[in-house]
Amino acid sequence: MHMAEETVFGKIVSGEIPVEKLIETERVIAFHDIAPQAPVHILVIPKTTAYANVTELAAADPGLLAEIVDVAQQLAREHADGDFRLVFNNGANAGQTVFHVHAHLLAGGLTEGSL
Ligand code: AMP
Repeated sequence: MHMAEETVFGKIVSGEIPVEKLIETERVIAFHDIAPQAPVHILVIPKTTAYANVTELAAADPGLLAEIVDVAQQLAREHADGDFRLVFNNGANAGQTVFHVHAHLLAGGLTEGSL
């Protein structure tokens, strides 16, 4: 078994862990982060377990990365005013804890954010 299939997001993709899917396409799903850090905090992930981080995804399938950005834009329009921050933690020393690539979509009242 590929190691990535053992992550919590692999279990969400397979349905083993149920989530409310905010958007589902053929290749991408989005759901609320369980520990929100902003008024809107949604995770956008590819269904494939092949990529541990955004570096691997960008190198192998830039179209899939572009689809994640497009889904984030749609969600920001639905859940906030359309503006958004997209964060990919890339590596444990950057705070990554789940090694199935995911975008953190943050939106809603971020004007006082530090970045
Ligand atoms: P990262 O630290 O970038 O790897 O982000 C992992 C994120 O996944 C964290 O923000 C967690 O709160 C979130 N998370 C972990 N388990 C779940 C879950 N079952 N459902 C939704 N979000 C989760």
